[in-house]
Amino acid sequence: MSTDTATPPSFAPVYAPTAPATRRLRIAVIGAGMAGILAAIRLKPCGHEVVVFEKADRIGGTWRENTYPGLTCDVPAHAYTYSFAPNPEWSSFLAPGAEIQRYFENVVRGHGIAPLIRFSTAVTTCVFDDERRRWTLTDSHGKAENFDVVVAATGVLHHPNMPALPGLERFAGDAFHSARWDHSVPLDGRRVAVVGSGSTGVQIISALAGRAARLFHIQRTPQWIMPMPNEPYTDEQRAAFRADPGLIDEMRYGEQYTGLVRRFTEAIIDKDSPEIQQIEAIVRDNLERSVRDPQLREALRPRYRAACKRLIYSPDYYDKLQQPGVEAVIGEIDRIEPEGVRMRDGSLKAADVLVLATGYQADRFVRPMQVRGRGGAELNAFWSPRPAAYLGIAMPAFPNFFMLNGPTGPVGNFSLIDIAERQWAYIEQLLAPLAGGRYAEVELREETMRGYEAERIAAASHTIFASGCSSWYLDATGVPASWPWSYDEFARRTAQPDGADYLFLE
Ligand code: NAP
Repeated sequence: MSTDTATPPSFAPVYAPTAPATRRLRIAVIGAGMAGILAAIRLKPCGHEVVVFEKADRIGGTWRENTYPGLTCDVPAHAYTYSFAPNPEWSSFLAPGAEIQRYFENVVRGHGIAPLIRFSTAVTTCVFDDERRRWTLTDSHGKAENFDVVVAATGVLHHPNMPALPGLERFAGDAFHSARWDHSVPLDGRRVAVVGSGSTGVQIISALAGRAARLFHIQRTPQWIMPMPNEPYTDEQRAAFRADPGLIDEMRYGEQYTGLVRRFTEAIIDKDSPEIQQIEAIVRDNLERSVRDPQLREALRPRYRAACKRLIYSPDYYDKLQQPGVEAVIGEIDRIEPEGVRMRDGSLKAADVLVLATGYQADRFVRPMQVRGRGGAELNAFWSPRPAAYLGIAMPAFPNFFMLNGPTGPVGNFSLIDIAERQWAYIEQLLAPLAGGRYAEVELREETMRGYEAERIAAASHTIFASGCSSWYLDATGVPASWPWSYDEFARRTAQPDGADYLFLE
C-alpha cells in the first residue's frame, strides 16, 4: 500500500455529484447517531425511501447516552462538525457534550429528517434473502420488512464494560457506569470514587474536583496526558464566525488543525517516527512540570509509550488531581465493600458514590443485531477471530450492506464525523449503479477483503498501539483493530471506489 503523502488530498470530504435515481431504493439506516443522521440527510433528496431505525427515543448516539459531568469532545468543535452544517455558535474551542447533542438535534430539525426516523425501534435481525435479493429486517416490535440496502450506523463504543469487581452488588452507596449517569444522585460535598483513567475518567475528575468532599481517582494504569487549552469563544469571535464562514473553514481545514492530524496519524502508525518522539516529549514534560510531589509524579508515570492507549487531552487534569480533597489511587482493586473500594494494598477508599468509568466492549459494532448474508453467512462467524470490514465499510457475502465507522476504520484523536463523511461519500458512489437501475447488488470481492486484512494486520504491528500496553484499540488476539495507515491514505482510498474491488450483479 502506498503511503506517499506528497500530494495530500483535500481535507474536506468530496461528494461526487449524484445522478437522479432511476430506481427508487428502499434503504434502511440503523442508528440515528452522528453517522445515521449524516446518511439520512444525504439520502433524503435522492428520492429513495429511507427508514432510520433508532433504538432509543431520541437521536444523538454517544452524545445522548453520555451525560457525565465534564463531558467534552477533545476534538476542536469546528472540526467535530458536519462539513455541510458549520456552526458559528460553538461556545468554546472544545465543545461540551450537551452542546454537541443540541447541535445534532438542530441539524436533524434543519434538514427535516425527523419524519424518517422510527424511534424506540431496535433492529434485531438482518437477513439477506438470496432469492428476492433483498434484506429482511426484523425489529424489536416483531415487525419484518424488506429493504434493498442496509446502512449500519450503529456506533463504535456503546456497550458499557461493567467490570467484574467482587462485591460490587453489595456497595451501600450509588454505583453506575459513566455512560449511564444517574443524575438523581447528589455529588456535592460527598465522597466519590471514580474507577478508570481513560478519557472519560479524567474528564469526570476534572469536573468533580472542588465539588465532591473527597474524590478518589482509582487507576489500575496511569495515563499520559497531553495538555490542551480549552478557551471559551467570546461573543465577538462568534459574530466573526457568523460573518465570515472562511474563518470556520480555517479552523477546520487550515494547516494548524490538519497539520496536527497529519502529524498525529504519522506518529501513531510508526512507533519509531520522530513525530511520536515529539508527542512523548510533550507528555513527559507535562508530567514533570505539572506534578509537584516527586512521589506522586513517579506513581503517575505510565510504564508504556505515549499514545499506545488513546492519548488523553486535558487542560487541567493534573492541577485538579492535586487539589485538596482529591486523591490519585494507583493500583489494583481487591474488592468492593459496602463502605467503599478496598485496594490490593489493604487501604479502604470510603465512598458514597462509585463511578465506573471502565470503558466499553469495543468489538460489538452492529451486534447484538443478528446479521446473516448471502447463503446464510453469519456475521459472527465472519468476525471470528476479529471484526473487520474493508475500509470500515463493506464485507464479502454481505451485498448492499454498508457500515459507517465499522471495524478497522480510523479511530483516534481526530473527528469521527470526518471519517463517516468520507465513508458516506464512498458509499454513495457504490449506490449509484443500484439507483441507476441496471444492477441489483454490489458486493465486496472476497480477495479484496483477504488482501486488505493481510496488509492491515502486517501494518498494525508497526503502530504505536502495538508497542506494549492493553487498550480497547487491540482486538481479542492482541492485534490493533484500527486503520494502521495515515489519514491521507484513508482519504485517498475512500475518495473513489475501485470497481475491481466489487462484484456488480445485474
Ligand atoms: P477506556 O479508555 O477504555 O478506559 C477504561 C478505564 O477503565 C481504564 O483506565 C481501565 O484500566 C479501567 N478499567 C477497566 N476495567 C477495570 C477494572 N476491572 N478494574 C480497574 N480498572 C478498570 O474508556 P473511556 O475512558 O470511557 O474511553 C473510551 C473511549 O471513548 C476513549 O478512548 C475515546 O475514544 C472515547 N471518549 C472520547 C472522549 C472525547 O473527548 N472525544 C471522551 C471520553 C471518551 P486499564 O487501562 O488498566 O485497562
